[in-house]
Amino acid sequence: MQDKKLPLLLSFFLMGWGAAFSSPVLAQAKPQTLAKPKALEWAPKAVASITAKDLKKHLYYLADDKMEGRLTGTPGQIRAAEYFADHFRSLGLKPMGDLIRGKRHSFYQGYPVTLEKVHPKTGVYLGGKALSRHGYWSLPKPKGKLLRKVQGKLVFVGKGMRSDFQGVDLDGKIAVLYMHQKQVKGGVMKAFSEGFRLLASVRGRAKLSAQAGARGAIILTNKMSTAFLSATNMMGFFPGKPKVSRRGWGGRGMRMFGNRGGSKIPVVVLGGKEAQGVAQLLGLKVDELDSLDREGLGSLVGEESKKQVTIRYARMKEEAKALNVCAYLPGRDPKLKKEALIFSCHMDHLGMAADGSVFNGADDNGSGSSTVLEIAEAFARLPKEQRPRRSVIFLAVSGEELGLWGSEWYSEHPTWPLKKIVADINMDMLGRSTDKVPSNAIAVTPTWRMGAYSTLGRMAAEFGEVLGLEMRNGDRFYRRSDHYNFAKKGIPVVFFCDDEHPDYHMPSDTPDKIEYDKLARVARLAFLIGYRTADQIEPPRVLGSGDGWFPKKD
Ligand SMILES: [Zn+2]
Repeated sequence: MQDKKLPLLLSFFLMGWGAAFSSPVLAQAKPQTLAKPKALEWAPKAVASITAKDLKKHLYYLADDKMEGRLTGTPGQIRAAEYFADHFRSLGLKPMGDLIRGKRHSFYQGYPVTLEKVHPKTGVYLGGKALSRHGYWSLPKPKGKLLRKVQGKLVFVGKGMRSDFQGVDLDGKIAVLYMHQKQVKGGVMKAFSEGFRLLASVRGRAKLSAQAGARGAIILTNKMSTAFLSATNMMGFFPGKPKVSRRGWGGRGMRMFGNRGGSKIPVVVLGGKEAQGVAQLLGLKVDELDSLDREGLGSLVGEESKKQVTIRYARMKEEAKALNVCAYLPGRDPKLKKEALIFSCHMDHLGMAADGSVFNGADDNGSGSSTVLEIAEAFARLPKEQRPRRSVIFLAVSGEELGLWGSEWYSEHPTWPLKKIVADINMDMLGRSTDKVPSNAIAVTPTWRMGAYSTLGRMAAEFGEVLGLEMRNGDRFYRRSDHYNFAKKGIPVVFFCDDEHPDYHMPSDTPDKIEYDKLARVARLAFLIGYRTADQIEPPRVLGSGDGWFPKKD
């Protein structure tokens, strides 16, 4: 089972944003160049209310450690949803989430998920004192919610090679092993295969420890590598990080993988101070273990602690609701206000890492989230007579990182008639720069190369030139964020994003690294496209490939 899943997981990791599917079919055709851009004299003054300062305020709130990485269905993500709802309410926007008792709408739209959690008291204890709570856990299959425990003296078994177990009495004891984790350089692919190699190694050592009669195993590492943190983030669940799955609405989309079946005995991988605390009980130091070769480590095999250590653990399942947030500004035209344009973003991210650090997701997607908050404010500030003819919906979804769940749920359970939704402008990762997508540029999709290319993409190129923002080809990201669920329903879409940078899906994606001026320019561009599209009588339409701009470096 797992082997089959691996290529899918690999492609998921490489592609990142949500669902991994085949690459988009690019229809090649001879592009046309656009006429020289005109000044945007029609732009309403309210666009000036979108500022780098306000974006920064929103983004620092959403990407704070207190939000615990905004994993779908967890308290951190619910707090993010509340932030959106409070903001929309304060702007006087109308709620457009689920119907409450069939009458009025809430700001929230909920969908069912199941959370599989590690019991909060799971940990390694000395007497009553917790030596460690974090770490990557592999636990026996659940047998109810009751906290279970194993107890015994610690015995060091070196690297935990097969030969290390020979002649060591582990019966009724807890095996302690050492594992070196090196930081791998050379790209995401290398890091990912290294992460999986480490996980396989953890599993192998757990099995050997169980066979040798150990009641539990503790694997110490020098420092958890980013490769290990990435792999365990995909595969594991640990204190503070549940495994989330869809409850009762099909298996489409990507699921997070738990440690299937788990191991026969409780196993934990510890790094940093927590590893140090356990090593001390054996009279060892993690730094020193790291400098020893195999022989050196071998000479320490059999060292035993004087004190008994307890491992407490349990796996629990919980039914929960994950939240989207939806609000709208009514259009000014009596007829056209029945049609609506959507601004969407995902507010969720990856939660906590195995070493206790937080996936802050500042760029992914604190950046897109703050632009939608600011764009909503700009629309709300328009004088009534300046409001666009059509209505404008602001939709913040969850579940994106798990496979575009929130937008899939919305597109299957729309709170606005789907036929009357004229466009989706989606914002996901907008505040960073790379060689491919530098500070003065943003990636956009679908471009003129694709059949789904629309008037929205053409406006992006046209207005971008006036705003000093170059468009780069983002077609490789076409199926990787929430707009894709609207595109599948035949709705014209445009998606803005930056590029995969070294902090992508890492705890190092923090708000201090965001380029707020760039973010403000992208937000203003999106506002203008949305304003123009919602206001002009002619609805947005798909142009097909070939009809569009042809910038030099896109
Ligand atoms: Zn992401």
